[in-house]
Amino acid sequence: MSVEIQKIEKSKLSDTSFDNIIFGKSFTDHMLIAKYKDGKWSEPVIKPYGNISISPATQALHYGQAVFEGMKAYRNKNNEAFIFRPEDNFIRINESCKRLNMPEVPKKTFMEGLKTLVDLDRKWIPTSEGTSLYLRPFVFASEAMLKATTSMEYTFMIVCSPARTYYGEPLKIKIADHYSRAANGGVGYAKAAGNYAASFFPTEEARKEGFDQVLWTDAQTHSFIEESGTMNVFVRYENKLITAPATETILNGVTRRSIIEIGKELGLEVEERPIPVKEIIEGIQSGDIKEMFGCGTAVVLISYKIVGYKNETWELNLPPDDESIALKIKNRLVGIQTGAQNDPFGWRVKI
Ligand SMILES: *Cc1c(COP(=O)(O)O)cnc(C)c1O
Repeated sequence: MSVEIQKIEKSKLSDTSFDNIIFGKSFTDHMLIAKYKDGKWSEPVIKPYGNISISPATQALHYGQAVFEGMKAYRNKNNEAFIFRPEDNFIRINESCKRLNMPEVPKKTFMEGLKTLVDLDRKWIPTSEGTSLYLRPFVFASEAMLKATTSMEYTFMIVCSPARTYYGEPLKIKIADHYSRAANGGVGYAKAAGNYAASFFPTEEARKEGFDQVLWTDAQTHSFIEESGTMNVFVRYENKLITAPATETILNGVTRRSIIEIGKELGLEVEERPIPVKEIIEGIQSGDIKEMFGCGTAVVLISYKIVGYKNETWELNLPPDDESIALKIKNRLVGIQTGAQNDPFGWRVKI
């Protein structure tokens, strides 16, 4: 399949500054769109980035049938571009679609469409340290119909946005003891738009108390940690990494899976098992837990420094940068993503 391209007349690239990139605010010259109707997907078309026109009765606006993905493309000094593990995102968007009762996106539409779009807008992939092109495929129910049923029409799109990785201070996180992100039998493992909507209010409450994010716990007992914000969580003991198993209440991150492999490559023992809140608090108090961090495509990896639970807080005594295993893992991962280091895992897809 060669994807139809309608090229922009004049690129916006020269009007765009890469010095002050605000995440998700600026977009490349083109976007991809495909529509599902009468039981089948149209051929995808790449066209100039711009507004789309929708009916006020568009079902996604009312009933939230919408899913998305996020991944990154990198470019090195030889103008080689790479997308990091795009097949994993393709598989996951269809797992999400399935759970939300939406039609699966054909592989060619996703993969060929993505590669063609990134190739076309290749000059938009920033090259300075810590930058990338963020790729956002998404599907939403686009039938104009207010009845609360599964939509008969869907729209799949991909937009691309130059991004800079957030290099902030280690985070303060608050362990959830009331709100939940996901429940058994729910949609927590899907990248459903509504999961985000449900998390904003508890996150805002935590911010007012001086925290950066909520560390979500299991919905029934609030005694096992699951995810933090929209990131998977790792705990590091001396030579061991632990992360919660990818159950139906946990989004199985591509970054999470990559860190598990990199941890093993670095000679660490890696365990996937339920992590009690009690273990976290006792481990920080005793000093047995050396580091804790969150991971996801947007931030890659970020350490936690302060953990709050009910009315108490505990502070991790984080190692200096040159002894940080978290930083070592992050540098290895970014090295693979950007093409600066070897990729024995075959994760990079060259464009
Ligand atoms: C997207 C997401 C992640 C991270 O997944 P990656 O594939 O690593 O980007 C983790 N948790 C939630 C809830 C997410 O939506």
